[in-house]
Amino acid sequence: MRHLVEPGTRVVLSKIATDSIGDYANKEDGEGKLVKDVERLADLQERLYAENRRAVLIVLQAMDTGGKDGTIKHVMSGCNPTGCVVTSFKVPSEEERDHDYLWRVHRAIPNFGNIGIFNRSHYEDVLVVRVHNLVPERVWRPRYEQINRFEEFLVDNGVTILKFFLHISKDEQKRRLEARLDDKEKLWKFTASDIAERKLWDQYQQAYEDALSLTSTRHAPWFVIPADRKWYRNLAVARVIVRTLEEMDPRPPSSNLDAAHVTIS
Ligand code: ADP
Repeated sequence: MRHLVEPGTRVVLSKIATDSIGDYANKEDGEGKLVKDVERLADLQERLYAENRRAVLIVLQAMDTGGKDGTIKHVMSGCNPTGCVVTSFKVPSEEERDHDYLWRVHRAIPNFGNIGIFNRSHYEDVLVVRVHNLVPERVWRPRYEQINRFEEFLVDNGVTILKFFLHISKDEQKRRLEARLDDKEKLWKFTASDIAERKLWDQYQQAYEDALSLTSTRHAPWFVIPADRKWYRNLAVARVIVRTLEEMDPRPPSSNLDAAHVTIS
């Protein structure tokens, strides 16, 4: 599938375009396609929910302003909220810090029948944690392998995993941060830490390259999505989810009931 990180290959983010628009002629062309994919996704989600035997987990990671919230809002806009759960992972709470780093993640794995979306995820434990030296390398280094094993366990137990890195350029981040400063309605999204984190851009890109290279597996692949253009980002993510669900082909359980012989009084 397009934008897949082929397992075992080394990702070099500077060599992957952030402003690609694939085969689409323009924004209008892409937006028309997205409307169709959103409808298709709604239908597939209904079937996954009725089947109730498998779950789908979508992991979203990005640099600040990369568009995780916008992706969720647009791509999942047709879904039935009953079967769709978004979990945002923040700085771990005291209770979470009292457990292994995958504890809070495992608790948030979607129920069978549901689509779960992780807005940030266990990958923070090899990203922000690594960049800020929150634990020593001897602690974070083995986590790539631990994460691979954890995800393989989930896949073996009925959870389909898709992981997306929304790839923006440093210039695009600057534009988006400035737009937040310029717009009263968006100002709440701006925090002082955005400036501090931006200074660590190169370290984050390096940490992402390792995470993408070491944890894109057959069972739980990563996709690097060109995300400078929001419409293309939405469409590229939606395409992967729709195609994956189509391959899963969820079906409502069959029933022996003969509806013709049921009378509702
Ligand atoms: P977002 O930026 O996703 O919209 P917030 O502004 O609330 O949401 O940021 C959440 C913060 O929590 C981020 O700075 C992220 O790096 C941090 N975070 C998430 N998981 C961890 C973790 N395991 N350890 C340390 N910090 C984390």
